[in-house]
Amino acid sequence: MQESILVLTHVDDTGSSLTTASLEAVTAGQELAARLSAPLAIGIIAEDPGAAARTLAGTNARVVGVLGKAFAQSRYGSDAAACEAICKATRASVILAPQSSRFARVAAGVAHRISGSIDTHITSIRNNDHGIEASRWFYRQRIEAVLTRAARPWILLIEAGTYPALVCDDADVAVERVAVELPAIRTDVTGTRAPAQDAQTIRPDAKMLFVAGAGWTKKQPDGHAHPAEAGDLILAFLRKAGASLGSSKSLVDQGGEGQPVLPFLTHMNQVGQTGSTPRHPKGLATCCHGEEPHVVGWRFIGDRRAISLDPNCGWARGKADVVYVADAFKVMAKVNELLGSKA
Ligand SMILES: Cc1cc2nc3c(=O)[nH]c(=O)nc-3n(C[C@H](O)[C@H](O)[C@H](O)COP(=O)(O)OP(=O)(O)OC[C@H]3O[C@@H](n4cnc5c(N)ncnc54)[C@H](O)[C@@H]3O)c2cc1C
Repeated sequence: MQESILVLTHVDDTGSSLTTASLEAVTAGQELAARLSAPLAIGIIAEDPGAAARTLAGTNARVVGVLGKAFAQSRYGSDAAACEAICKATRASVILAPQSSRFARVAAGVAHRISGSIDTHITSIRNNDHGIEASRWFYRQRIEAVLTRAARPWILLIEAGTYPALVCDDADVAVERVAVELPAIRTDVTGTRAPAQDAQTIRPDAKMLFVAGAGWTKKQPDGHAHPAEAGDLILAFLRKAGASLGSSKSLVDQGGEGQPVLPFLTHMNQVGQTGSTPRHPKGLATCCHGEEPHVVGWRFIGDRRAISLDPNCGWARGKADVVYVADAFKVMAKVNELLGSKA
C-alpha cells in the first residue's frame, strides 16, 4: 500500500513561529516519508500560516494551512475542525502531530471524525517488511511496546524531545489554503493565567535538569540544617541557568515527616520509578544518593553529573558520567557566582 504522510503543526504564542515540538514532528515526518518514498504534506494551524511556513523552506513538502482569526486560539471546536479539514484535504494515510496540549486535546476526536485510529506518546517510528512500526513506553517507562496497525488513517502523536527539531532556511513558502467549516464558536480565550517564570520550576524544554536530593535539608558538617540557604542556592541556579527542577522522592516526601522542606518543591518534581522520566540533554544531581529507583527516571538524560559528599554513592557506581565528591552548598554557591558574573 502506498502511504502518504501528513504532519500537523501549530504555532506558538507569537502566532508566527511553529512550536519546537511541531518542528520535531516535521523531522519525524520527513524521515518516514523518505524511507517509504511517500509524499509528505505539512499542515499548519494558525491565524495566518504564512510567516510560520517560512521555517519549512527546503522541506520540499506540500504545505497547507487554515486561515482565520478563529485559529489564533487553542480551542477544541476550531482546532478539531481545522485538523479534520486538513486531514481530509490531504487524504493522508499516516498523520503525525506533536504530543502538545493543544493537539493531545483534539487528536482523538479528529481520529473519530476521519474514521481513523490513533496512538499517543510515540517515541520512535520505523518501517520494515511488516509496514510502519511505532514505539511507545508503558508502565512508567518500564515496558517499550512496538505497535503496528492495518487501519488507516493512523494518527501518531510524537513525544517532545524524541526527534531533532527541523532547521531550514528562512524563505517564502507557498501555503495552500484549506477551507474549514467552523461549528458555532462557544468558547473565547480571554487570557492566560500562568505562574511567574520563577515559580514554574518544571521546564520540559530546558537544556538541563537540576535534581535536588534530601541532602539539601539534612544536617551539615556544622551540625545544623540550612534549608533556607539551600532554597536560595537552588532557585538562584534555576533562574540563572534556566534549568528544570527535579527532586528525589526522599526530599519531596519530607513535608509529611515534619522535617525542613523546600517550599517550591512538590511531588510533580519527583524523578524516578514512582516519579517522572523527563528528557533533557544534561542533568546535574545534587545532594542525592543516586539509588536505582531514582536513577531509573534519568533514562532519557544525556550527560549525567552528580555532586555528592559520599564517594560511594550510587552515582559513583557507574550511574553518572562525572561525579564531583564535594559539598554541593559550596559548589553551587561558586557556580551561581560564576553564572552571575557571566550575566
Ligand atoms: C518502590 C520504590 C519506589 C521509589 N521511587 C522513587 C522515585 O521515583 N524517585 C526517587 O527519587 N526515589 C524513589 N525511591 C526512593 C529511593 O530508593 C531513595 O530512597 C531516594 O531516591 C533517596 O533520596 P536521596 O538520594 O535524595 O536521599 P538520601 O539517600 O538521604 O541521600 C542524600 C545524599 O545527599 C548527600 N549529601 C548530604 N549533604 C550534602 C552536601 N552538602 N553536598 C553534597 N552531597 C550531600 C549524602 O551524602 C547522600 O548521598 C523509591 C523507593 C522504593 C522502594
